[in-house]
Amino acid sequence: MNGRGDASSSLSEVIAYVALGSNLGDRERMLGTARADIEALPGTRILACSVVEETEPIGPVEQPSYLNQMLAVATTLTPHSLLDALLEIERRAGRVRESQRWTARTLDCDIVRYGEVEIDDDRLTIPHPELRNRDFWQRELGEIEASLRSGAEATCERNWVSSERST
Ligand code: ADP
Ligand code: MG
Repeated sequence: MNGRGDASSSLSEVIAYVALGSNLGDRERMLGTARADIEALPGTRILACSVVEETEPIGPVEQPSYLNQMLAVATTLTPHSLLDALLEIERRAGRVRESQRWTARTLDCDIVRYGEVEIDDDRLTIPHPELRNRDFWQRELGEIEASLRSGAEATCERNWVSSERST
């Protein structure tokens, strides 16, 4: 809790799910730096992490394969403050924003869920609309929910696995 009481934080912690993806540069290091940056955000801590999965790229542009990982975080940041913080973390990871969607990126941080909150405005759609289309997100989400229920410690640096499916 950052105790500042400004509009960037709410009073109570919410559990949010953040999906990380990287397909440029040292992908594993990108995910590690992103986890450290997220852990350092005000009022925010990582509760659990999925395994790191390698997946084939989605969309019309030919590009390298991705490493993906889902995190459960407890945060007092509001959804829009969390988004701003994640966009800044992407920027620090050297991400160059292209006008075309689904292009290669050093780091992508998406908010998949934020508690039970539903949002659909010009900056944010929560739950993330791609959740229903991405099997690996659903798998990762299920894995984290199970580990939260079991009360396991967050162990984020594990060997990564190759996804058999591309979505
Ligand atoms: P994508 O993740 O779909 O490849 P980008 O990472 O380029 O696209 O993000 C483009 C914009 O998507 C962001 O600037 C943000 O305003 C918006 N956005 C809408 N909903 C979300 C969400 N749930 N998580 C992250 N960004 C989101
Ligand atoms: Mg994104």
